[in-house]
Amino acid sequence: MRYSQLFGKTNKSAPHDADSANARLLVQAGFVRQEMAGVYAWLPLGLRALRNVEAIVRDEMNKLGAHEVLLPALQSKEHWDTTKRWDTVDVLFKVPSQTGKQYALGPTAEEVITPLVAQFVQSYKDLPLAVYQISNKYRDELRAKSGVLRGREFGMKDMYSFHLTPEDFQAFYDRTIPAYLNVYRRCGLDAKVVEASGGAFTTKHTHEFQVLTPAGEDKILTSKTGSFAQNIEISTLKAGDKNPDNGEELEVMTGVEVGNIFDLGSRFSEAFNLAVTDENGERKHLIMGCYGIGTTRLLGTIVEACNDAKGMMWPKSVAPYPVHLVSLSAKDPAEQEKVAATASALHDELTKAGFEPLWDERGASAGEKFADADLIGLPLRLVVSSKSLAQGSVEWKPRHEEEAKLVPLAEIVEHVTTFMNEPYETTSH
Ligand code: ATP
Ligand code: MG
Repeated sequence: MRYSQLFGKTNKSAPHDADSANARLLVQAGFVRQEMAGVYAWLPLGLRALRNVEAIVRDEMNKLGAHEVLLPALQSKEHWDTTKRWDTVDVLFKVPSQTGKQYALGPTAEEVITPLVAQFVQSYKDLPLAVYQISNKYRDELRAKSGVLRGREFGMKDMYSFHLTPEDFQAFYDRTIPAYLNVYRRCGLDAKVVEASGGAFTTKHTHEFQVLTPAGEDKILTSKTGSFAQNIEISTLKAGDKNPDNGEELEVMTGVEVGNIFDLGSRFSEAFNLAVTDENGERKHLIMGCYGIGTTRLLGTIVEACNDAKGMMWPKSVAPYPVHLVSLSAKDPAEQEKVAATASALHDELTKAGFEPLWDERGASAGEKFADADLIGLPLRLVVSSKSLAQGSVEWKPRHEEEAKLVPLAEIVEHVTTFMNEPYETTSH
């Protein structure tokens, strides 16, 4: 991709009202644009990164055996009345129609998935079942804040599981925890499993997945070794208390909730009469679980955890492009021609090898191009200049490293292949 042709460019100045690193850097680097408070437009670079996050989430949900669907965001008021949530969920957006009818703009999808599954699941032999979607959700949050961390329209993967027995539910619930941890690890994040009580949508015991960063809104009580983690809102313990398991002192850290999983019991299956006949001929309401991951929040959390004074530092697995290829202008026209032709050939070769670079071929200064490369934060920067070509080489610098080195032009593709296949870096702490 030629930078000059990219839709959405970097900005010299940061948005004046940015209250967090992701709000500042994603806008400045041309990944997103704020449409209004809590609502963002995703530009090509941001969308590519978001699609990478979604692909990781999708892969891990598919490995759990879950089925992907896409449910409507415009939801029936009748179903929200059935569950008695129309008047109790404070963040519910209610949309009036010119016909006098009203709709809900989905903040979650129990009211859609439960009656839908009831149309297909007739026997205990159809169970267990897990269904998920990755789609935009809408919540009338009182305070949208921290860029894409808390939006009014945001991306979320929501999965629902259906079981005949509590044991079967528990077995699936337990399998989702390592799957969730895989998602975060593959996104370059170190997430903690935290015991918590349910938010607005449930009353039961739940687990949250928290990434510890000062940008978060949640207070987590943790121990040094990480063997203990509870959301402080529910905990009977406080900072300075001892871990009941091993006596370690507990401290309070700030975290971002990047996911949570909870037991819905039979509340929704009873409301929509989702039941099957078991082996003994007895009719049983299904036990359900709900499993969320905020995909846009997850992307914002990656930025919070992976940045420095110069810009973002994308993990390879999520970066919109693997390589930032920079060709520097030369004064001498023949030299200039050689640099451009070499960079163009390298662009094509890397693309062919599966590593399409973002190629900054503008006439801008080296300083400007390097600043943009650092801001955008792709994992690897390659610079082609008349100076490097005099040595038959290209300048090589991973985003994390300070010093650049020279790599022979003929070996670049091989080096990039090796570099991109090295294990995921976990950059948060
Ligand atoms: P929070 O406590 O942060 O409001 P929640 O408990 O309301 O989250 P859920 O209803 O379980 O969250 O939603 C599942 C996931 O969706 C959350 O873990 C979070 O990652 C994400 N999420 C929830 N609300 C938002 C929001 N307003 N903007 C972005 N992501 C969100
Ligand atoms: Mg909430």
